Amino acid sequence: AGLEGFAARFDNRYARLPAHFFTRVAPTPRKGTRLLDVSPGCLALLGLDAGRPGTEAFTALLGGEQLWPGMDPIAQKYTGHQFGIYNPSLGDGRGLLLGEWLAPDGQRFDLHLKGAGVTPYSRFADGQAVLRSSLREYLASEAMAALGVPTSRALAVAVNQERVRRERWEPGATLLRVAPSHVRFGHFEWLAFGGDKPGLRKLIDHVIDDHWPHLRGHESPTAAMFDEVVAATAEMIAAWQAYGFVHGVMNTDNMSILGLTFDYGPFAFQDAFDPGFNPNHTDQEGRYSYAEQPSVGLWNLSRLASALLGPISDELGGEERARDALAGALERYGERLNLRFGERMRARLGLELEQPDDPRLLGDFLALLQAGRCDYHLCFRALADWHGDEPGERLRAALGDGAASRDWLARYRDRLGRETRAEAARMVAMNAVNPLYVLRTHLAQRAIEAIETSADTAELVRLRACLSAPFTPQPGAEAYASAPPAGAPVCLSCSS
Ligand code: AMP
Ligand code: MG
Ligand code: MG
Repeated sequence: AGLEGFAARFDNRYARLPAHFFTRVAPTPRKGTRLLDVSPGCLALLGLDAGRPGTEAFTALLGGEQLWPGMDPIAQKYTGHQFGIYNPSLGDGRGLLLGEWLAPDGQRFDLHLKGAGVTPYSRFADGQAVLRSSLREYLASEAMAALGVPTSRALAVAVNQERVRRERWEPGATLLRVAPSHVRFGHFEWLAFGGDKPGLRKLIDHVIDDHWPHLRGHESPTAAMFDEVVAATAEMIAAWQAYGFVHGVMNTDNMSILGLTFDYGPFAFQDAFDPGFNPNHTDQEGRYSYAEQPSVGLWNLSRLASALLGPISDELGGEERARDALAGALERYGERLNLRFGERMRARLGLELEQPDDPRLLGDFLALLQAGRCDYHLCFRALADWHGDEPGERLRAALGDGAASRDWLARYRDRLGRETRAEAARMVAMNAVNPLYVLRTHLAQRAIEAIETSADTAELVRLRACLSAPFTPQPGAEAYASAPPAGAPVCLSCSS
């Protein structure tokens, strides 16, 4: 049903790499699979918006019953540093790379089924994904994409009648993830730690051909590739910081070489602004809290740098030159991140011109939000609609009404006075970067509960629609644009 010609639309290059890079595994059939939603945005990305596969084809695929023609499922091997400690026995433990899709516009996308069953890399785990975390990943992927944050995507999500044991028994689910690559920092770490020089070279060549063929002529293509990974990672983390997103499990096996937000687990968007915020309650030390993300990104890049030292030394004819190249790239990480974060935050504040005291204005704003535990999202939207007059009720509710907020608002009004752009244009521009709808934990929770308790997907579909157009007010969606009610849960376990 709607799968005509699909065999020719897959070109599964990873499955043609050396055999020890992966294991061929068929998905485990899941009983009672019901398709919950298909993302229109992701369908369009794949060129499937006209003539998409039918519901039956999606249900059969997500239920592990029937692959689409041209698919060749594999579990990828990788390793990585988890909470600072190297773990050699990782790999796709419950997800399968189904195939590489050729979109009509020439782009290529991996289709990956998460929750597809046990693989040789499952260790003692069950190969399942639960409904709760699958829905959260589905919504987050589409929300982040709409915000302009680099991310993997999600094409479809389905619930099934398997019961999965986590902190309680819960419904099982599967998710169809989409990304131009599923290669992680951990893929390189695996080959480097294992001393597999030819394998490492093969993977580097594959990745460069796939994503950065123009680096081929470089004196050290691998060093140039690392530079690209550094830039993409800085870009991604700048966007996370700008939108108050906390990933929660920044292990190197969850870091995409393309700088895509990847492997959604106990992530959250902050509500009340708090640099120490950490949604992962198993992370007692706060290693992956909001304020730590930029430095964790650098630490993770340093692990990747170590893995690439050998091949770069070969290309440059010596380890010392390789170390210099890597150090230079790592140095550019902080500069790049700060630059991009500053640009995003200036846009969020409506500052088109760049002025020397802008960083201080921004820093004081964040301090104000932190001191007042202000909602991180509502305040930008309230600022966007402010004309510089006496702060109205909405702005006072968002920023507080104390001397500190009045003082800051006065400085901000003066600063806006130095802009040359017309006020109406500033407001439009601000509302185009400051979301009205954010995937707050309690909103996801509500959509999850509606499906768990009454199989009702209306809430999921409405929320997905709001998050896919987060800057545009939608009729009847006021409840999606407000802060959480007092007592809403903010922490999540990792047991996804
Ligand atoms: P994560 O914490 O999601 O990054 O996963 C870390 C490792 O555990 C990866 O190798 C996963 O494939 C594996 N894993 C996570 N959950 C499961 C599960 N339910 N069954 C099998 N493997 C899993
Ligand atoms: Mg992972
Ligand atoms: Mg995960």
